[in-house]
Amino acid sequence: MARKILGYVQLIWHCDSCGAKNPGAIKSCTACGAPQAIDVKFEQVDAESFNFIKDEALIRMAQSGPDKHCPYCGSRNLANALTCLQCTGDLTVGAKSRPSGMAVGEDAQPVEVEPNTYTPVSAYQPSMPPMSRNLLLVLMLVFLIICGYFAWNTIRANRTINKSATVVSSTWERNIAIEAYTTVSDSDWRSDIPYNATVSSCYSRHRYDSSTYVSGSVESCGEPYTVDTGTGIGQVVQDCVYEVYEDYCDYDIMDWVHVDTLTTTGTNTNVAWPDLNLMQNQRVGGRSESYTIYFDADGKTYTLRTSDFDIYQQALPGSLWDLAVSVRGDVRRAEPQD
Ligand SMILES: [Zn+2]
Ligand SMILES: [Zn+2]
Repeated sequence: MARKILGYVQLIWHCDSCGAKNPGAIKSCTACGAPQAIDVKFEQVDAESFNFIKDEALIRMAQSGPDKHCPYCGSRNLANALTCLQCTGDLTVGAKSRPSGMAVGEDAQPVEVEPNTYTPVSAYQPSMPPMSRNLLLVLMLVFLIICGYFAWNTIRANRTINKSATVVSSTWERNIAIEAYTTVSDSDWRSDIPYNATVSSCYSRHRYDSSTYVSGSVESCGEPYTVDTGTGIGQVVQDCVYEVYEDYCDYDIMDWVHVDTLTTTGTNTNVAWPDLNLMQNQRVGGRSESYTIYFDADGKTYTLRTSDFDIYQQALPGSLWDLAVSVRGDVRRAEPQD
């Protein structure tokens, strides 16, 4: 976001002691003579309109930096003053600069702090009290117990029991995905559309905001607002971005798309792929096969799902197999008995 300076305006302040209204650049109350407080809040003369200052000297003053408050008498002095105008005290040491950089007025949005008024946050972090030896031991014990629990669970889940089982039945499924070379419609930014596509229609669409000017972009600015310069003069600014518009287009392109999946299923060993009858613009996209074998061991049914046709071929009903079964009943390994 780029900030544009539109000009400078006179601000006003209210005296803490007597309530009188004073022009921003006046450093002591015109009614009672009290010095302006360091935390005084400047206000806009008129929040609705900006009466820009023409006086070059005043503008230079606003640009010179926030005023300093005398450490001896509290009077406000210009940023470049070396001695206090009121009491002639030395301002080169101990003089506080007025806060600056914040937006003036209640509704104004907060403004990021300017680099010259940035106060680094202290790097000091209070250290934690030393942990007692016993607490550390207890924590280590708890950690070990948790580790042990997870290890035991993992071992348990992986533990298998060997069972002698008989094949009861089996089923198979084979799939062929069919793709067709055809026209596909899509839309994208013109610069991202493949070169062999046919672009049908485009419209100009906002793509991103840039802080610097980009060819063809449109400048968009927020409402002007006033920033306190710390001198009693307000800097009227506007936050702007360059909205970059680009062509967004509908296009057609030839591409392979999935159009169908042929499936054959069956039981036992009469396994076959689906019949292929491809049209000229079609091809096979992919093949998959899955086999399910149902075993019986001691009256209990165990199921093995696999894509291995070799295993399936051997799983004839009535054949004897050795199974490795997990505690949850999953078949982890299956081998035909000799
Ligand atoms: Zn006063
Ligand atoms: Zn002074």
